[in-house]
This record gives sequence, structure tokens and C-alpha cells, in this order.
Amino acid sequence: MKKKLKANHSIVKLILDFESDTGFRNFCAHWKEPETEYSSPEIRDIVQNWKNIESKIECDNCHKFIRYEKVDGYEHISCPCRELNLKAEEYHEIEE
Ligand SMILES: [Zn+2]
Repeated sequence: MKKKLKANHSIVKLILDFESDTGFRNFCAHWKEPETEYSSPEIRDIVQNWKNIESKIECDNCHKFIRYEKVDGYEHISCPCRELNLKAEEYHEIEE
């Protein structure tokens, strides 16, 4: 299991890259506006990208997504049950 999680380290970067994507930022900023049209291929690509990420960060055990938490000074990137856990040290390596 640990080996698998280590291999999944790249997912964190994938998410950060995705979040820094301008299109996605616009999507987040405007998705509540009913007059905004989001049926364009560009938005469909963004949604599809996110679906791909989602499928990799959902815990098979508790069926929750991984999330960032800081507990007692230790940084976790894991689901609530800690079954799915991206190691904090690895996360630090890609944190600017
Ligand atoms: Zn879990």
C-alpha cells in the first residue's frame, strides 16, 4: 500500500497544476453566475481533467477525497480515515 501511495505522489502536483490553470480559476470564479455559458469544449476538458483526478484521489475505504490538513504541526494529505495518504515530506518537495 505504501508503495502505491508513493507512486501516487505525482497526483498532488497534478492537482496543483490543475488548480493553477486559468480556465479552471475562471470556472470557479463564475460558476454560480446563471448567465454564464459553460458548455464549451474548453470547459468540458476542464471538467474531464478534474474527473480524472477525482478518480485517483477518492479513498476506496471511506469513499472520501484526500485533503490537506495540519495536525499538531504535521501536515497530512489524506482522506479522513488515513487509508489514502500522500506523504507530507513529498508534498513539501513540490511546495513553492
Ligand atoms: Zn479513507
